[in-house]
Amino acid sequence: MPAKPKTLSVSKRRARAKKRAYRPTIGYVLFENPNIVVIATTRTKNPKTGDMVQIWILPRDVDPMRAVQTGEDDIVCFDCKHRGDKSAGRKRTCYVQVAKAPRGIWRAYNRGRYEYLAADGYQSVFGGKKIRFGAYGEPVLIPIAIVRALSAVSAGRTGYTHQWMRAEYQVYRPYVMASVDSPAEYALAKSFGWRTFRARTADQALSAAEIICPASDEAGYRTTCAQCRLCDGARENDARKDIAIIVHGAAAKSFVSVDALIASVPSAEVKLEGAVRDAYIARRFGADALVSIGGMR
Ligand code: SF4
Repeated sequence: MPAKPKTLSVSKRRARAKKRAYRPTIGYVLFENPNIVVIATTRTKNPKTGDMVQIWILPRDVDPMRAVQTGEDDIVCFDCKHRGDKSAGRKRTCYVQVAKAPRGIWRAYNRGRYEYLAADGYQSVFGGKKIRFGAYGEPVLIPIAIVRALSAVSAGRTGYTHQWMRAEYQVYRPYVMASVDSPAEYALAKSFGWRTFRARTADQALSAAEIICPASDEAGYRTTCAQCRLCDGARENDARKDIAIIVHGAAAKSFVSVDALIASVPSAEVKLEGAVRDAYIARRFGADALVSIGGMR
């Protein structure tokens, strides 16, 4: 485990950021609270997304790599099953390489390299740009007012949440996709009104309402997210298709285990309702999820 790095106090970070404000910035701090920081970076080499502003949700005072190793990454990723869990012997299957960009961005933030930007500056910085909500971390941790304001000035967006089953995050439905990992989760998210992005194994069929991501390996990398922007949430009476992608390698194994977990819910044809639905939610997301969605049915 890496040694705990020295972190600057918030006031020192802000003072340094202010001092360097006359130099061209490489990113912006959009939001901070005692747990997290939300940073927008304007340059990327990500070949799948193409030219998009990348928004990172990082632990505020903990090196993100250390957070992964100690389990403190639940600050930004909640109970996402791709986090890994040493005590349960489960390996991390998230595709984000935290030792690379997230850690570099967190270190730059900790050195006061990013300007602080309020909502009245969004138009001049992000106007006409395309935005990816959640290059790392849960986009539902970005306050909804910021998501709305950025969406209003941008030329398009993408985003994905694993927290789509919780009542308090239903307001994010118009902005991001529900990230689902099985036919049963797909059915459940659809019953809440989300558009979905489903990770599947090669032997799981597409439903009639899904298409494959055109920027995927199986689609021949035909485009980028910046050009496509299908993953921008659910509109009123939205007839657009949901998206699916085949996962490979270590991540594919975790989807098989999820399917084993929900063996009592056999296929997408099963409508999840009543006791079956409650049992599924409790097993998959914990009993507290039942409490939080109780009022939305
Ligand atoms: S469907 Fe479009 S926006 Fe969504 S991940 Fe694929 S390329 Fe990106």
